[in-house]
Amino acid sequence: MKKVVVIGGGITGLSAAYMLQKALESGEKVDYLLVEKDNRLGGKIWTEQIDGYTVEGGPDCFLADKPGCFDMARETGIEDRIMGSNEASKRTYVFANKRLNRLPDGLMGLVPTKLVPFALSPLISWPGKIRMAFDFFIPKKQTDGDETLGSFVNRRLGKEALDKIAEPLIGGIHAGDPDKMSLKATFPRFIQMEQNYGSLLRAMLAARGKMPKPKPPEPGKPKKTFFMTFVGGMGELTDTMAAKLEPNKILTGKTVTHIEQKTGGGYMIHIDGMEPVAADAVIVTAPAHEAAKVVEDMDKAMSDNLAGIPQATSATVNLAFRRSDVGSSLEAFGFIVPISEKRKIKAGTYSSTKWDYRTPDKEHVLIRAFVGGAMNQELVFQDDETLLKMVLDELKDIIGLTAAPVMHKIFRWVKGMPQYTIGHLDRVAAIEARAAANPGFFVAGGSYRGVGVPDCINVGKKAAQGALEYLGI
Ligand SMILES: Cc1cc2nc3c(=O)[nH]c(=O)nc-3n(C[C@H](O)[C@H](O)[C@H](O)COP(=O)(O)OP(=O)(O)OC[C@H]3O[C@@H](n4cnc5c(N)ncnc54)[C@H](O)[C@@H]3O)c2cc1C
Repeated sequence: MKKVVVIGGGITGLSAAYMLQKALESGEKVDYLLVEKDNRLGGKIWTEQIDGYTVEGGPDCFLADKPGCFDMARETGIEDRIMGSNEASKRTYVFANKRLNRLPDGLMGLVPTKLVPFALSPLISWPGKIRMAFDFFIPKKQTDGDETLGSFVNRRLGKEALDKIAEPLIGGIHAGDPDKMSLKATFPRFIQMEQNYGSLLRAMLAARGKMPKPKPPEPGKPKKTFFMTFVGGMGELTDTMAAKLEPNKILTGKTVTHIEQKTGGGYMIHIDGMEPVAADAVIVTAPAHEAAKVVEDMDKAMSDNLAGIPQATSATVNLAFRRSDVGSSLEAFGFIVPISEKRKIKAGTYSSTKWDYRTPDKEHVLIRAFVGGAMNQELVFQDDETLLKMVLDELKDIIGLTAAPVMHKIFRWVKGMPQYTIGHLDRVAAIEARAAANPGFFVAGGSYRGVGVPDCINVGKKAAQGALEYLGI
């Protein structure tokens, strides 16, 4: 019986372990062990049910245009638990010029596709709008070198579009600094648009013409919305996956300290407070900075490249209020705050408006604030009381909320968001080359080729397939 050890029990490691479990059930001669340093599985997917509130610590949704979550939900029998967002309230505000401005309708990523709402929007000044239109005439970039998101948007659409749209909306996905983020690694689509059409606006207009008409939902399937989640929160997916694994093949509360390559093939996995475990193949899904420590003795070059992927620190602060205490209607998905506004929160999601089933009753609302990210990390390290007060003060200034919360929960993500900075794809290629040079060794996870949950599912499954192929199974 060949053995695969999976290090890290986030969505990537769970996806790998799930594939190995399926191989085992189909009679293959393979055994596996999933080792997770925390006492719970799920990693950054962390949903808590608190007094009837469904509280998300990490991701609260997944992108519907990627199949990973749908496929996994179908395989594990929870497809009917997938739920779309409440489209009637699909509005996002940008806090700019000291007030909330509605993000114009028809803004696809960065680029306006509907002229009238964009022209009427006070978010971007008239000189800023005219500067964005220059995109039609600015020649495309001639060199193939990497460029930051900041430089790209500034070059094509101007500084105002960068400050008020790209940084909070697009950069916000990575909690990143646009002046450091690699465009190639984060939004390669923008490069294709520029190269193929010579202009983002032209590319968007062309794409709009080709867009298929939205289809009605298939019977028994939820209506597809841009973002989707699970009725019980994202944790429903990881809990379901974990329940499919054999309990004796899971070790939680155990940290892998290092991996040793055995002479003659295979690995010894050294686990804190335990005898080492022998493995024929190993899949490392711990975030890059933690993976760097685990492989340092085994492969210094791989470790150095892993350590070269920066990670940003952030926090989410969930707050529940009595609806009658909240002055605002909260009829939106929430708001984003450009860094140029110099505020202390990055965004606020009106969780109970965006999603059903997030509060125990209609008399209460749930809001989630984001703190930190690459450009404001130090704010996360304040004690709970100070952090909570800071968030409430910000909500008072931004949405005029003065009520005291009836429930709150803070989640800190220290080094929790990998930063795909300039040169990221070269670092990842170097890591993958070193992994390939070590037979039966695989690295996967949100630190490398996509932070989204569907991407992590795909790379986790792919790593397991690679391990099975390597073992001749
Ligand atoms: C606040 C926040 C909001 C997000 N929102 C979204 C969203 O809405 N949609 C979306 O698609 N994505 C979102 N993401 C990104 C997404 O959550 C992550 O990219 C994804 O969950 C990463 O999964 P992973 O398994 O690769 O890593 P992780 O979830 O980090 O799992 C890695 C696991 O490895 C364990 N580990 C580390 N070192 C060791 C060791 N030495 N030994 C054993 N175990 C170890 C860790 O404890 C951890 O459990 C968000 C992320 C954050 C932080």
